[in-house]
Amino acid sequence: LKKKASAWEKEASKVNLAAVLGAGIMGGGVAYQSALKGTPILMKDINQDGINLGLKEAKKQLVKRVDKGKMDAGQMADVLNQITPTLNYGDFKNVDLVVEAVVENPKVKDAVLRETEDAVRDDTILTSNTSTISINKLAANLKRPENFCGMHFFNPVHMMPLVEVIRGEKTSDRAIATTVAYAKAMGKTPIVVNDCPGFLVNRVLFPYFGGFIGLVRDGADFQHVDKVMEKFGWPMGPAYLLDVVGMDTGKHAGEVMAEGFPDRMKHDGQTAIDVMFENNRYGQKNDVGFYKYE
Ligand code: NAD
Repeated sequence: LKKKASAWEKEASKVNLAAVLGAGIMGGGVAYQSALKGTPILMKDINQDGINLGLKEAKKQLVKRVDKGKMDAGQMADVLNQITPTLNYGDFKNVDLVVEAVVENPKVKDAVLRETEDAVRDDTILTSNTSTISINKLAANLKRPENFCGMHFFNPVHMMPLVEVIRGEKTSDRAIATTVAYAKAMGKTPIVVNDCPGFLVNRVLFPYFGGFIGLVRDGADFQHVDKVMEKFGWPMGPAYLLDVVGMDTGKHAGEVMAEGFPDRMKHDGQTAIDVMFENNRYGQKNDVGFYKYE
C-alpha cells in the first residue's frame, strides 16, 4: 500500500546543501551520513581539533566500507569531498538546512543558533540535535522561530535509523516537511513528535533505565541483567547501553526527565548512574563505565 503524503509533506524545500555545527561524535556522524547519501555538507567547529576529529571519524567509517567491498577508493574520496570543513560562516548563505550539534549547554546553543540565523538566508531551516533542551526555549530568542525545529539523531548516527523531528509551537509545516525529507534523503526513518522532556524515545528509555537502577539497588548483578535482556531480544542490555550513551549524558538526561515528570521518574538516593559518574566511569568515551574497554 502506498501511503498518502500528509498535506504538510508537500511543503518540503529541497536541501541541496546542508551544514552541521559541531564536529563531535554527533556532528561528525551527521556529516558522514549526509555526504554518503549524496547531500553535500559544511561541517563547522570552533577549533581545528574538533574538525580533525569529525573528519577522522567519517574517514574511519568509509575505510570500513572499502574494506567490506561496498565502495572503492575513488568513491570514498568522492564522499569525503562532499564534506567541507570550516571554522567560519563564510558559505552559509548557500545552506538550505543546518543541524546544530554543539555541546549540550542551553547558553552555548542559544548563542550559536542566533549567530547562525544571522549568517544564513531568511528561508534556511535551522534544526537542533539537542537531546534534552526544550525546542520552544531554544526558539524563544530566534528571529524566525517558524524555520526552527528539533532533529534528534541517535548515536552512532550511521547505524541508528530513527530521527525524531520535533515540532515547536511556532514551527512551520515547511520546516517540518523539509527536515523530514532531509532525514529520508539521509536514509533515516523520521518521526514527528511534539516538544516535551525526552521527546518520545527517552520517555520510553528512561523508565527502562529506572527499572534497571532499581534491580541493581535490590542486589541484582548488572552483567546478569544485561545477559537476560540480550536473551529477551534486545541488541544490548541496559548497563552496556549506558556505557555507549555516556554516564554524563545519561545522568543529565535523567535529571531533565525527573524534572519534567517528577511523579514518574523519581529515584530516591544515589543511583548506579550517580555512582559511576562520581567515580569518573563515563563509559566507552573514557574506556571505563560498567565495563572496561581497551
Ligand atoms: P561532542 O562534545 O562530541 O561535540 C561537540 C562539538 O561542538 C565539539 O567538537 C566542540 O568543539 C563543538 N562546539 C562547541 N561550541 C561550538 C560552536 N560555538 N560552534 C561550533 N562548534 C562548537 O558532543 P556530542 O556528543 O556530539 O553532542 C552534540 C549534541 O548532540 C548535544 O546537544 C547532545 O545532547 C546531542 N546528542 C548526543 C548524543 C550522544 O550520544 N553523544 C545523542 C543524541 C544527541
